[in-house]
Amino acid sequence: MADLASRVTQPAPAADSTPAPDAAENSGTAAGGPGLWDSEANVQVALTDLQSDESTPFYSATTFEDLKLSPELLQGLLALGFHKPSKIQGTGIPIMLSDPPQHLLAQSQSGTGKTAAFSIGLLSRIDLSEPDVPQALALAPSRELARQIEDVIRAIGHFCTGLKIAAAVPGGLARGEPVKANVVVGTPGTVLDIIKRRQLNPSKLKVLVIDEADNMLDEQGLGDQCMRIKGVLPKSIQVLLFSATFPDKVMRYADMFAPKAVKMTLASSDQTVKGISQMYMDCPSENEKYSILCKLYGLMTVGSSVIFVKTRESASEIQRRMEADGHRVSALHGAFEGSERDALLQDFRTGKSKVLITTNVLARGIDVSSVSMVINYDIPMKGRGDSEPDPETYLHRIGRTGRFGRIGVSISFVYDKKSFTALSSIANKYGIDLVQLSPDDWDDTEKRVQTVIKSNRAQAGYAPSATDPQATPA
Ligand code: ADP
Ligand code: MG
Repeated sequence: MADLASRVTQPAPAADSTPAPDAAENSGTAAGGPGLWDSEANVQVALTDLQSDESTPFYSATTFEDLKLSPELLQGLLALGFHKPSKIQGTGIPIMLSDPPQHLLAQSQSGTGKTAAFSIGLLSRIDLSEPDVPQALALAPSRELARQIEDVIRAIGHFCTGLKIAAAVPGGLARGEPVKANVVVGTPGTVLDIIKRRQLNPSKLKVLVIDEADNMLDEQGLGDQCMRIKGVLPKSIQVLLFSATFPDKVMRYADMFAPKAVKMTLASSDQTVKGISQMYMDCPSENEKYSILCKLYGLMTVGSSVIFVKTRESASEIQRRMEADGHRVSALHGAFEGSERDALLQDFRTGKSKVLITTNVLARGIDVSSVSMVINYDIPMKGRGDSEPDPETYLHRIGRTGRFGRIGVSISFVYDKKSFTALSSIANKYGIDLVQLSPDDWDDTEKRVQTVIKSNRAQAGYAPSATDPQATPA
């Protein structure tokens, strides 16, 4: 894997990002608790190993202490069990904190701690003595992700007296009342709304974070909204763009949005996450996808899983059929009310529901560490009439598992020439060796899936010495 730090491109002489020697005692434990199938001890040992292995995105030569963070932030990180920064944190934070402030475009694989990276950047710039003055704005594409970011900022900023966070999502703010918070997290539509209604005074904003930035700047609606928001912000605002994917065509918009940004990028072969075993199921026909899905559920005794489908209707339809067949599943998509969506995701986070059927609305950002399996029931497509494969959405979807060094399996369903060709082209782009599963050999399928989800993160294929839990590519 190419060294992320070596791919940092500075537009001008800037922040000293020379890593300091690693002095910290690291007995890192996994944030969010261990996966359901490994003992806590296992996870601790394994994360420490991963974070000392230079070839992983979890390694950084620096420590949080070296990054000169405020004692309150250090305390917040410690309370979360974050003992060492990941690569994106160790490299990105010094750039975000440089003086004078610089724009940053930061790419790092799914589940490598981008949220904490920009949360630390943002919190370090807040004047806590002015709790009612909006100073930082973070934007995300879905209400669920905005809420999750709000929770992370709140947790890391737990010891920052005077921190106030407002959630600018539908139903998240009192109508008509001015926003009195030093940090605002929201979706572009609602943020634009409260600016128009003069509920949010943008004149003192210092930092703008755009999470899932390639999606936010590219998609017609969102891109336009982000531009309009940026148009009313102070000219001196620092822009921070984060994502696991930055396709070339978005880079042009990104350059307009954050001119001369410092760029941290990844080669396409480095964008996949090694802890995720990527498989595909060769289904005989579209009709048979459903019964294959149900059989796969028979294999899943541990962990949670997410099933991605193309449309809201098919999400609801599969939910209905699976429930009628005696499975307990939830469906979440854009047709639900905001409060219903919050409750559904909350049940999934706590493990009350273990199977979530959803659309691309949850493809990005959602962090639930117990997810051990992701199913692409439909291969993600884009373009007019779904004419092209959508490799970015594929990466984000499968990235709902394998978070911060955990193990996961993704299974993509193909059933005809179009779906097969689309998946092959995605695999080619990222250099993925997909493992083929056959619907005629359930013993083999069970063995392959179980081997992965029962192993712990030390075997995640990161360490060259580790036993390889992956089945041989077909
Ligand atoms: P990304 O945005 O890069 O996909 P997230 O920011 O959602 O990833 O982080 C993934 C998981 O990693 C979260 O559960 C988070 O709590 C955990 N995490 C982040 N940074 C650290 C760290 N330095 N040490 C341990 N766990 C971390
Ligand atoms: Mg993220």
